[in-house]
Amino acid sequence: MAKKQFKSESKRLLELMINSIYTHKEIFLRELISNASDAIDKLCYLSLTDDKVGLTRDDFRIDIYVDREKRTLTVADNGIGMSLEELDKNLGVIARSGSLQFKQEMEKKEDLDIIGQFGVGFYSAFMVASKVVVVSRKYGEEGANMWVSEGVDGYTITPCEKETVGTEITLTLKPDEEGEDYSTFLNEYTLRSLIKKYSDYIRWPIYMDVTKTRQVESGEKDEKGNPKLVWEDYTEREVVNSRVPIWQRTKSEATDEECAAFYKEKFHDIEDPVAVIRVSAEGAVSYKALLFIPKTAPYDFYTRDYKAGLELYSSGVLIMERCEDLLPEHFRFVKGVVDSQDLSLNISREMLQHDRQLKVIAQNLEKRVRSELKKMQENDPEKYRGFIKNFGLQLKFGIVNSFGVSRDTLADLLMFYSCKNEKLITLHEYVVAMPDSQKYIYYACGEDIEHIAKLPQAEAVREKGYDILFLTDEIDEFVMKTLVRYEEKEFRSVTSDDLGLVSEEEKKAAEEAQEKNQALLGFVKETLGDKIVAAKISQTLRHHPVCLTTQGPVSLEMERFYQSRSKNGELLPMFKAQRVLELNPEHPVFEALKNAYETDKSAAEERVKMLYDLSLLLAGMSPEDPAAFAERVSNLMAQPKQG
Ligand code: ADP
Repeated sequence: MAKKQFKSESKRLLELMINSIYTHKEIFLRELISNASDAIDKLCYLSLTDDKVGLTRDDFRIDIYVDREKRTLTVADNGIGMSLEELDKNLGVIARSGSLQFKQEMEKKEDLDIIGQFGVGFYSAFMVASKVVVVSRKYGEEGANMWVSEGVDGYTITPCEKETVGTEITLTLKPDEEGEDYSTFLNEYTLRSLIKKYSDYIRWPIYMDVTKTRQVESGEKDEKGNPKLVWEDYTEREVVNSRVPIWQRTKSEATDEECAAFYKEKFHDIEDPVAVIRVSAEGAVSYKALLFIPKTAPYDFYTRDYKAGLELYSSGVLIMERCEDLLPEHFRFVKGVVDSQDLSLNISREMLQHDRQLKVIAQNLEKRVRSELKKMQENDPEKYRGFIKNFGLQLKFGIVNSFGVSRDTLADLLMFYSCKNEKLITLHEYVVAMPDSQKYIYYACGEDIEHIAKLPQAEAVREKGYDILFLTDEIDEFVMKTLVRYEEKEFRSVTSDDLGLVSEEEKKAAEEAQEKNQALLGFVKETLGDKIVAAKISQTLRHHPVCLTTQGPVSLEMERFYQSRSKNGELLPMFKAQRVLELNPEHPVFEALKNAYETDKSAAEERVKMLYDLSLLLAGMSPEDPAAFAERVSNLMAQPKQG
């Protein structure tokens, strides 16, 4: 059969493996054993509903064979096996995001040691082997196939015989070279320690020839005439792993470090999780869970490609790889394993969705994750800020999308940038620090902190000495609108036209000014037409001549958000912000406008339009007609200085 080429991505990874100078070559064994275990999981699951499998749980096993003369090491399983197509597809290409991600990390990082922490899969065999032979027979098929590769050159697949269903992977180890002792992987002691180190928790028994000694009669007799005994070595096939899944162990039996190592291997992460959550529940529903909160968001986390869910086991048998029903949407970043003996083994996936037990488990897990996060927030704020940077957005989605109870408890977990503290704070921290005179929780939205800090509307709030939460995520304002209030305090955008700041006198003065300038304000509104719903005298502006505020539920930020999502740039009226142009009566520009209004209407119109454009600029938007704006400014600059 003609040699086939590896797909280019795989070829690169393979080259990395073959030429690897990594210190952790040994992990190849862990990878092969965990593939074997997965394959058995699959057949075991089938056997629950398919009598033809002909195996019971106790029959499944993984076997390790060593041939020192031929320098071969074999890992065999009686799992589901691979068909011809699967051999070609699975072993000829990196289908898996884990491998790809690993490769990307490799290119980014100098630290080659990361391989020791990363699931790199089947290809890792090439770190230690010059030749890899895979003989596999798929469940349900009569024939078997043999896949052979000696590295980057490619691979061949030919039909062959195999009596039983399953897969046998045989590595011919590379010759030893300076600094590289590949022969050690033929050594019983090395293999046993590696299995203990990396694969001890594998549920299926891993059998190996184990050397033992016993006393036997030598055939000679001692001086008293008794048979003489001598020590003799013999081998026996024995199970060498303890088979207790790590989630079944107590904290003293499996340390946090061991759990973290398990996490990294299982979920293909290169970093330790920020939290390890162990759950052991007895009662109405008994189950064990081992959950992890990743340190950084996976690169595809906020895309549709990301697959959420927990691994679900029933008494140690994997029944679902990604059970999404076990986690609420807002905690979909949590990874881990749930194992319950109370779930029926051959329950169908559709039934699982309505399973009462599953609902109870899901509710408890939600509570546990929440309290774990709360604990981290209180005990290790820095770590928690890191968490918020990665997954805060997901919590916010949760608030906007959820109905009912979880909103308030989720709000406790949020953090926003505080203008005063110049760092992320919780809403509770904000409220606690509010002076008695402060009515609202103020927030301001914008692209980034620097822009928001310059918003003219924020001036008045800051002058009062009140803190402002700076919101930079598009969804933030929707969160505020959904929550409405926190600890009885209402949220209020600094661009709202009622900030609740002004004293009675100030209010009165502004009302008087409003009254006095009625005609001018009417003229402003008339000149700008539909662009604004009103022009009014500002109660809050200090240094700037104008600003834009809004009436009603849609803010400028929200309008921008809707705009960016509208198909043809057209917005329905209900998604448009109702703009109010506020004028600062103390500013010289106001005086100049008034003069123009009284003496030269067309000059006044120009000024009004320019002021409107200025208000847009100050709100972080572009003038509607930049060319016209530029022309107005130029004209103004070219005017001889008056007076
Ligand atoms: P991963 O196991 O992370 O998916 P690998 O490169 O290790 O990536 O394996 C690729 C695929 O090959 C597996 O997903 C599985 O479908 C198949 N495979 C590997 N080893 C075995 C095996 N022993 N039995 C059955 N299928 C296997």
